[in-house]
Amino acid sequence: MITKTIDILYNNNDASDSDLISIINCSDTEYLFTKAVKRRKEYYGDKVFIRGLIEISNYCKNDCLYCGIRRSNITLDRYRLTKEGILACANEGYRLGFRTFVLQGGEDMYFSDDDVCSIVYAIKTAYPDCAVTLSIGEKTKASYKKYKDAGADRYLLRHETANASHYAKLHPSSMSLDTRKQCLWDLKELGFQVGSGFMVGSPYQTDSNIVEDLRFLQELCPDMIGIGPFLPHKDTPFKNEPSGSFLKCLNIIAILRLMFPYALIPSTTALATISPHGREQGVMAGANVVMPNLSPQDVRKLYSLYNNKAFSGSEAAEAIEILKKQMQSIGYRVVTDVGHVAK
Ligand code: SAH
Repeated sequence: MITKTIDILYNNNDASDSDLISIINCSDTEYLFTKAVKRRKEYYGDKVFIRGLIEISNYCKNDCLYCGIRRSNITLDRYRLTKEGILACANEGYRLGFRTFVLQGGEDMYFSDDDVCSIVYAIKTAYPDCAVTLSIGEKTKASYKKYKDAGADRYLLRHETANASHYAKLHPSSMSLDTRKQCLWDLKELGFQVGSGFMVGSPYQTDSNIVEDLRFLQELCPDMIGIGPFLPHKDTPFKNEPSGSFLKCLNIIAILRLMFPYALIPSTTALATISPHGREQGVMAGANVVMPNLSPQDVRKLYSLYNNKAFSGSEAAEAIEILKKQMQSIGYRVVTDVGHVAK
């Protein structure tokens, strides 16, 4: 019985590989989500934390096969925000109630470490009660240290897949899983609150790959864990690959909640893109963070990681009232809070 298996996970924060695979694929999800929500409420009550996502650049030196802003996509109009532009986004975000700003971008070599530091420092000086999260890819430990010294609090870097041969199918040969993992260890050692994660249903992914992802996360013990369905992008080699499964994503969110009760787990934009009520359903499966888009309106469509990215309605930071109502309607409360991890 799947309920017995879910009880094992609930009671031990862990389960065997084969039990995890059964839960990943279970179709009777009511019991799973009830348990995940119970655990989530013990740690976070009815709070939903919001993060203002500022997509600072869609230039990227990398060529990840799944990603719409990969270097080889020559059809894409490229943009980068200025320091002033980024500060204006933060200013608007603060006014709307955001107390965490996530600066995300491609690996844009235009921004020197000094540039990144001066942006981080400016935000932290203007809004000392806010957290700054960076998500700008793989850097040296020395660079990460500079960002930390400038005041950055958190760093998001999904490992994407913890299986080296799967990693090699999703990335060019110049990239490696070992480097990606080393970055995560470096970030931890430097005292960042670290986020990692992976795509669900990326091409060639197997269920045992997903278990390997969960095992790697157990080793890493990240503060934040982001997952979302793989979605194809029309100008990538994976354009004809099928999207990841929405239901599988929800099941994995619930599993993550039970394995990592303390974690900050976003209900991601990819989840909201693949299903009209994906955002709410992610929260009802155990997620406790949402990251509306605070980027200037005209660049949102250019930060196109995948087709049809959701960026209006409750995805848009300026529509925070809609998001609040959505969350209220399912029994949760959006809070104005820096939203640190409950570890
Ligand atoms: N350059 C940064 C930010 C990458 S974009 C970095 O390397 O971390 C943020 C996340 O979007 C990626 O980590 C990836 O997991 C996800 N993503 C990229 N392309 C995607 C796609 N086609 N479908 C779903 N998620 C995607």
